[in-house]
Amino acid sequence: MTWRATILTLFPDMFPGPLGLSLAGRALREERWAIEALDIRSFATDRHRTVDDTPFGGGAGMVMRPDVLDVACEAATSRNPGAPLVYLTPRGRRLDQALVRELAAGPGVTVLCGRYEGVDQRVIEARGMLEVSAGDFVLSGGEPAALLMLDACIRLLPGVMGGAASAEEESHGAEGLLEYPHYTRPAEWQGRKVPEVLLSGHHAEVARWRRAEAEAATRTRRPDLWDQHLLRARAEPNPRA
Ligand code: SAM
Repeated sequence: MTWRATILTLFPDMFPGPLGLSLAGRALREERWAIEALDIRSFATDRHRTVDDTPFGGGAGMVMRPDVLDVACEAATSRNPGAPLVYLTPRGRRLDQALVRELAAGPGVTVLCGRYEGVDQRVIEARGMLEVSAGDFVLSGGEPAALLMLDACIRLLPGVMGGAASAEEESHGAEGLLEYPHYTRPAEWQGRKVPEVLLSGHHAEVARWRRAEAEAATRTRRPDLWDQHLLRARAEPNPRA
C-alpha cells in the first residue's frame, strides 16, 4: 500500500518542493508514497477566508482558529485513514530516528503546519494531535519541519533506498551510535591521508576500525547518546560488538 502524506498548510505550493527531486522524487513517481497538500484557507467560512484571530489574554501575533482547523482536520484525516495527526510545534516531542521509524512503518501521516503564533490549544487536544518538534529552534512555519520529517520517513520506505545505505549502519541506527567517518579518492589530498586500514582490503580490520570510530564519535560528540547506547548494550548485549 502507498504511504500517504496529507498536509494542512497555508502554503500548499511548498509541497512536494524538494521532495519532488532526487531519492524522494523518484519514489514519488514510483508511487511508493503519495502527497496531498490541502489549503487551510479553503476551510474558512467567511468572506475574507480568515483562519486566525488575536490571542485571548493579549500579546503579540495571531493564533490559528480552532473551528476552521477542526473542519480542515476532519477533511484531512478522512483522506488518510489510520494515519496519526501530527502538529509540528517547537513545544512538541523532539523528532528522532525512533519516531521516524514508527511513522514510516505506519500507513502514512497527516500533518498540520502552523503559522503565526501557533494553533489554539483546544483543537490540538480535541483532535488528539501528536505534537512533534523539528528541534530546539523556532521556524516561521511548520512547512520546513514537515519537509524534513517526511524526507526522513520516505527514505525508510520499502524499496526507496535500495542497497544504497543500510539503516542499521547509519547514524541513529539500532545501536544508537553515530556513524564512522567516510573517505574516497584521492587517497591523499592537501597532505591529508586516508587512514591506512581503509586501503588494506582487510574487511575484518576495516569493520573493527569503523566500529571504534563510531563509538569514539558518539562518546565525544554526543555523550547523551553514548549513555543511552551503554544502557541498551547492558540490557541486550550485541554479539557483534
Ligand atoms: N509561538 C510559538 C512558540 O513560541 O512556540 C512559535 C510559532 S512559529 C513562529 C509558527 C509555527 O511554526 C508553529 O506553529 C509551528 O507549526 C512551526 N514551527 C516553528 N518552529 C518549529 C519547530 N522547531 N518544529 C516544528 N514546527 C515548528
